[in-house]
Amino acid sequence: MDKKGSSAFLRNAFILLLLTLVGLGVFAYIRDGSQPVLSLAPQSDVASYNTDFTLKITANKIGLKNFSISVSQDGKSVDFLERTFADKPMEHTEVFRLPRESGFKEGPVELTVVVRTHSLLSFIGRGKVSIVRKLTLDLTPPRVTVNQGVHNVNQGGAGAVSFTVTKPVARVGVAVGDYFFPAYQQKSGDYFCFFAMPHEMLPTNFKPRIIVRDMAGNEATQTLYIYAIPKEFKFDKLNVSDEFLNDKMSQYSAQYPTEQSPLDIYKRVNNELRKQNEGELKRIGQETAATPLWTGPFLRLPNAAGRAGFGDQRDYFYNGMKIDHQTHLGVDLASLANAPVPAANDGKVAFAGFFGIYGNCVIIDHGLGLQSLYSHLDSIDVALGADVKRGQFIGKTGTTGLAGGDHLHFGILISGVQVSPVEWWDEHWIKDNVLKHLNRQQ
Ligand SMILES: [Zn+2]
Repeated sequence: MDKKGSSAFLRNAFILLLLTLVGLGVFAYIRDGSQPVLSLAPQSDVASYNTDFTLKITANKIGLKNFSISVSQDGKSVDFLERTFADKPMEHTEVFRLPRESGFKEGPVELTVVVRTHSLLSFIGRGKVSIVRKLTLDLTPPRVTVNQGVHNVNQGGAGAVSFTVTKPVARVGVAVGDYFFPAYQQKSGDYFCFFAMPHEMLPTNFKPRIIVRDMAGNEATQTLYIYAIPKEFKFDKLNVSDEFLNDKMSQYSAQYPTEQSPLDIYKRVNNELRKQNEGELKRIGQETAATPLWTGPFLRLPNAAGRAGFGDQRDYFYNGMKIDHQTHLGVDLASLANAPVPAANDGKVAFAGFFGIYGNCVIIDHGLGLQSLYSHLDSIDVALGADVKRGQFIGKTGTTGLAGGDHLHFGILISGVQVSPVEWWDEHWIKDNVLKHLNRQQ
């Protein structure tokens, strides 16, 4: 090889080497994919040692290597969480709280999360992502002062309380056993809350508590000392006839196509569908105005005889065999067939349509979680979202749903929990138990 040939060879070798390096670089770049994506919830800029942070990491294409979390205040930094992954996961979710033992005071802190992936180009800073979140550490729980509230409630009835909270809140309401009744802030700045004494709760177990959680997660509770008046509910026997089953179950056969007999459909409707409807009522109960939309006592279907009452304990029989037990959670009112049904009070239509065991049904929202329910209707004359006035006809009575004969099943709900409607027909009860606490708020 002459001199010229050898220099050409070197040049070619150099170009080849360069191309290989560029190729490797491109390969590494493509293999690394895009940078890992981090999200940190909640977005709030206040926190306490009770705040549950959720860190979500998604590594694109190449797995995660490690991450570390630290918090700092006034130049002092504390590393409090570190994880190294052996299995190169593509995703990781970590729930954590700030370390109480850091001893940081109330005031500004800085939370830093650093995540690394198995990037081939980590030496030029690829595959490393961090988040810095400036937070205010708030360790002072809100204070609750009860202004006014009821002294006693009926089992299966409703109660009300108004109270003041010292700071902005993220969650506020009254807990009764496993039930939670949201409170709503009124013009005065105070909170007002309707709650129920559930019909199935033993009066000795009735221990309502106001629960308030601030934006940083600090919580305060305040027990309400309210006497629960025990109530004896009636026992009732219902015979389920073949005529009733053959007549009614066609409404539900499409929903339970695997069931052969009307009786089997009925058992599922009276149990499963009833429970499902209860859950839906809770959801509808949250869709409520934050101010009262109503005034005065609630209307009762005119010229109607009371049939079944609220809380009736019903045993269901078929051919002499007990097949079910349920509680009746409204009042049945019978007038003429297809009698016009007036809205019990002013409000907004929160539901209008076919609703499981209730058949054709209207639910009117009266605000603050208070709602009235009209069911087994033959026809509905209002649409979802419409404003209605007390006494306005909203439909006609009928036999849809699980109704044996033409009647109105009327219900009252507090945040989706059914209570006795009787209290709401009583002007004196409303004055003493609701308006006394509510009017000073407006
Ligand atoms: Zn009924």
